Amino acid sequence: MEVIRQAGAIRSLVQALRCSGKQIGFVPTMGALHQGHLALLRASAGQNDVTICSIFVNPTQFNNSDDYKLYPRTLTQDIELLEAAGCDYLFAPDQEEIYPQQPLLQFSFGPLEAVMEGEHRPGHFNGVATVVSKLFHIVHPHRAYFGQKDLQQVAIVKQLINGLSFDVELVRYPIVREADGLAMSSRNKRLSPEQREVATSLYKALQLARAQLLQQPVASIKATVAAYLASINQLTPEYFEIAHPDTLQPVAEVRDVQEVALCIAAFVGPVRLIDNILVNLNRL
Ligand code: AMP
Repeated sequence: MEVIRQAGAIRSLVQALRCSGKQIGFVPTMGALHQGHLALLRASAGQNDVTICSIFVNPTQFNNSDDYKLYPRTLTQDIELLEAAGCDYLFAPDQEEIYPQQPLLQFSFGPLEAVMEGEHRPGHFNGVATVVSKLFHIVHPHRAYFGQKDLQQVAIVKQLINGLSFDVELVRYPIVREADGLAMSSRNKRLSPEQREVATSLYKALQLARAQLLQQPVASIKATVAAYLASINQLTPEYFEIAHPDTLQPVAEVRDVQEVALCIAAFVGPVRLIDNILVNLNRL
């Protein structure tokens, strides 16, 4: 695998690959790679001739400076994992390469960014849209792979692709979990052993809600989940939402829809974690 630091170098490389008829798959990440990232990578390797991964801890999408500073950075180990997973090129730019000037462009995603992550992390999706647009222009892939782990981010990127006519196919990949259900995340590396145990409560809360979907009204499911989360030490819930799987808007009554997304965010100690499950109500 070749590691490329310059945007110009990756541009020329992709131009040449496209001219020779190669299909390019792209997996953007912030590094500290785990099996979730590698699953996206393998999916890309299976569907494209060439797979490019990027590692860039994007400062503009962090609304909390500690979260940015403490975000795990494990480049040497990441490179080994990528090589073993069959990645062809790693694009690992430094900050000046992506942001030679302070970005001033502002995106607006309407109701989609007014809920959940958008509501609780002001500016987050503006930073995501900025960096994803830049990476799409630099890497110019045929297909880009994003995880359902960040379900609202997938919806934002879909709206970005449609809104700006990017010629990229978005592929959503399911959540890869630890054996006890915890969604894999780079931030899990920051959890103490005790917090790691507590972190499983997010997935347990989603399962608790799922079991009640056809039995209870939305308000009472939310109350049950809130009571469950309140009973757990070291856990500070931020939101639990029953949402439409595409628009991510809150669902008032589940009988009105075929599928719902159950979405949760909570702090475990100082570490903010998110998770979600999609539930097809016809199959419950
Ligand atoms: P990140 O490095 O956290 O920005 O994630 C890079 C990509 O990997 C994003 O599209 C994430 O949604 C995806 N991803 C992160 N964790 C998982 C997971 N546990 N399973 C599947 N995809 C994931």
